Amino acid sequence: MTLPVKVRFAPSPTGYLHIGGVRTALFNWLFARNMGGTFVLRIEDTDVSRSTEESIQEIISAMKWLGLDWDEGPYRQMERREVYDRAVEKLIKEGNAYRCYCSAETLDAKRKEALERKGKPKYDGTCRNLTGTSDAPHVVRFKAPAEGTVTVKDLLRGNVTFDNEELDDFIIQRTDGTPTYNFVVVVDDADMGITHVIRGDDHLSNTPRQALMYDALGYPRPQFAHISMILGSDKTRLSKRHGATSTLAYRDMGYLPDALINYLARLGWSHGDQEIFTREEMIRFFNFDSVSVSAAVFNPEKLLWLNHQYIQAASLETLASLLENLLIHEKILPENHEMTPEEIARPIPILKERSQTIKEMADKAEFYFRENITIDETAGKKFLTQSANPLLEELVNGLRDLSDITEETLEKLFKEIVEKADIKLGKLAQPVRVALTGQTASPGIYDVILLLGKERTLKRLSDAISYSTINP
Ligand code: GLU
Repeated sequence: MTLPVKVRFAPSPTGYLHIGGVRTALFNWLFARNMGGTFVLRIEDTDVSRSTEESIQEIISAMKWLGLDWDEGPYRQMERREVYDRAVEKLIKEGNAYRCYCSAETLDAKRKEALERKGKPKYDGTCRNLTGTSDAPHVVRFKAPAEGTVTVKDLLRGNVTFDNEELDDFIIQRTDGTPTYNFVVVVDDADMGITHVIRGDDHLSNTPRQALMYDALGYPRPQFAHISMILGSDKTRLSKRHGATSTLAYRDMGYLPDALINYLARLGWSHGDQEIFTREEMIRFFNFDSVSVSAAVFNPEKLLWLNHQYIQAASLETLASLLENLLIHEKILPENHEMTPEEIARPIPILKERSQTIKEMADKAEFYFRENITIDETAGKKFLTQSANPLLEELVNGLRDLSDITEETLEKLFKEIVEKADIKLGKLAQPVRVALTGQTASPGIYDVILLLGKERTLKRLSDAISYSTINP
């Protein structure tokens, strides 16, 4: 009988959650959901000097934002110290690990010497066969087999064989007593009953050490699947140079979680030619046969395209809630604002089509959400001039008399004013646009007026007239 699938995402909280890390989490999550298995979140924080609480919170927020829900955890390795201490003792007792008293300086000198000789800088085994122990400062090393080979079975790459000679008696417990990654990852994966270790192929070189550790601890090895890295368009590993790599930065840039998930799923996995998937479809179709081993290239334009598609398809309610979060994040709305969801949703229908991100939507709708606008200096100088004043005044008067403001009545009023002044529509519309939005680009001018309503429109027009009066 095969065991029910149990997988984990095991980030080290040493920085923000990278977009590559999220893709690893996503593949684990999709596989778990597809197989009706369990998805574990485990925080690998044993590198105390580099781990931060802030990073842990950011990882959790990013996972929640993306809807990558976990069934167990978050476990924190630093809260599981006794489990590792017991495993260290077991390894020492059974002759698979030993205390090493070599000082950092000695090791450094030996490493330099080896490099000068063009040899491999690996631990020379000085303490391997010491008899008796002392409590002097020490690390604990794994006693790795000196010869032979170790073969890792990878679901995506087949069998990968490594020479044991290449591997070191690596440290499993530091001088301060904290355990190291290659050791705890095995203890935890075994202790938690992980059946499949799915992670980035940057860990492939660690896997032989871990495989030997499974053997030494007497645990069965899990299945491994090392997924390819994500590269930038220049084919180097995705980094800040290629734009944002922090997951939450995508939230703040106005990407929909579903769009980002869809995009990341397609980075290295495919199902025919299909580009757009619901979560249910991704879960249903996901399997390792369709995961590619070649590196995936991150394409920001495609992500943007997908985001636009998702915006068009999203419900007004969803968009309003995303927009509200972004407006608060951008400080366009205060956190304790009193707008109703309907009021927030009002500009969305006219902005949706031309917004590729929610941030773009928020920026375009800023004039509606802010009580007071700031007139862009160049736009003000150019369009809110004294010669525009009589036109703005006419519009004020005309609007005051309008009892019913609709697209038709506005169109009629604008037409009357431009015909009387014998000017083109733009000569009126542009100063009005700057007066009402502070900018030279905005949605259609009648839409702007309809959104603002009569009172706010009149107030902004009067403010603009005062502005023009001091503008030569
Ligand atoms: N903590 C490791 C990392 O963040 C993950 C290792 C693993 O998945 O085995 O890279």
